[in-house]
Amino acid sequence: MSQPRLFTTRAEVTHARSDAGRVALVPTMGALHEGHRALMARARQREDVDSVWVSVFVNPLQFGPTEDFDRYPRDLDADLAVCEEEGVSAVFAPSTTEMYPLGRPMVTVRAGAMGDLLEGESRPGFFDGVLTVVTKLFAILTPDIAVFGEKDAQQLAMVRRLVADLSLPPEILGVPTRRDSDGLAISSRNVYLSTAERHTALRLSQGLRAAEAARAGGAGAVRKAAHQELDAGTSDHPPLRLDYLALVDPDTFSEVEDGYSGPAVLAVAAWVGTTRLIDNVRVTL
Ligand code: AMP
Repeated sequence: MSQPRLFTTRAEVTHARSDAGRVALVPTMGALHEGHRALMARARQREDVDSVWVSVFVNPLQFGPTEDFDRYPRDLDADLAVCEEEGVSAVFAPSTTEMYPLGRPMVTVRAGAMGDLLEGESRPGFFDGVLTVVTKLFAILTPDIAVFGEKDAQQLAMVRRLVADLSLPPEILGVPTRRDSDGLAISSRNVYLSTAERHTALRLSQGLRAAEAARAGGAGAVRKAAHQELDAGTSDHPPLRLDYLALVDPDTFSEVEDGYSGPAVLAVAAWVGTTRLIDNVRVTL
């Protein structure tokens, strides 16, 4: 494997882009793990792609004032090693000033009504920040394909709306969630968890699995099965604190009715200690 080329400025990366052929981009915030590797592997499988590029940028715009922007894990050398193993050709890792040379942007993308639901309700401005940086990355790197994880299902749905509503060029590719052997969805934030917290955190994937198994009973049964497991977690040590549990339409993220049949996403967010975790599963009702 050859080392990926590292670019930190827009000028350098724009120059390199002109002879890179068809590019699949994997946008990340770094602290790369097996979940990110799954996205890179999926991109590599595409026969219509000449090179896989990864962006590493912890985007301040998508963090609230009390969130973990400062303590978010950063290790560019480790990220470059992962990218080399995954056959990535180029890594774009700009500084904040390189991405936002005029400071906090005045003109941003607004996520609209879907951006106020679930993750957006708990994290005001989050999706505006995500869609703004994704739009900028698309403008700078002009990928033919952009790869996102189903782990962040609402983000993936919002990015699909972004490209449709603003007629942006890249094809959006979704990749299933990669999990640890105990079921926990892999996340850069899992490093915050103590052993006891991690044990409590397993309630999320267990709740989703129980809900999936109850799908023959319809939307009500799915919600009930998930709640049983997640509510039990409130007596764990340390306890699970549920932020939201919602059974939603995969495209709009609005709640489905009790009699609904068709594809749905069961999405959950919860706190364990000071760590906020999200997970989801697709269920066909
Ligand atoms: P992040 O670095 O957390 O912003 O994630 C970058 C991309 O990796 C996003 O598209 C995520 O949805 C995706 N991702 C993160 N964790 C996983 C996982 N466990 N499985 C699949 N994709 C993931």
